[in-house]
Amino acid sequence: MFFLDNRSTCSSNLNTNCPVDIKPILYIILAMECNIEANLKHCNCTYEPCARKGKCCECISYHLAMNELPACCFPDDIEKTYDRSFARFAEFYKKK
Ligand code: SF4
Repeated sequence: MFFLDNRSTCSSNLNTNCPVDIKPILYIILAMECNIEANLKHCNCTYEPCARKGKCCECISYHLAMNELPACCFPDDIEKTYDRSFARFAEFYKKK
């Protein structure tokens, strides 16, 4: 069992500037055991030097702190532009 008060180093990433209270979501993610290999099978990120690949808790914390979303929130053609902003996300899904 993985307890919330016994989180890994990811806990330092919980302080974001995101206007939405994302902590409950992040606590759920952090409580899960990390399965990097399985996560990588669903990762569409093309930014190769990133050390957060497959570490979804670090990935989402990093992007939310910059008012962005991870690569997997975007279709491939938008992902490769590296515009991961909330505005770009809203623009795309508003058209759907
Ligand atoms: S979406 Fe961002 S943080 Fe996540 S793997 Fe790609 S570049 Fe790294």
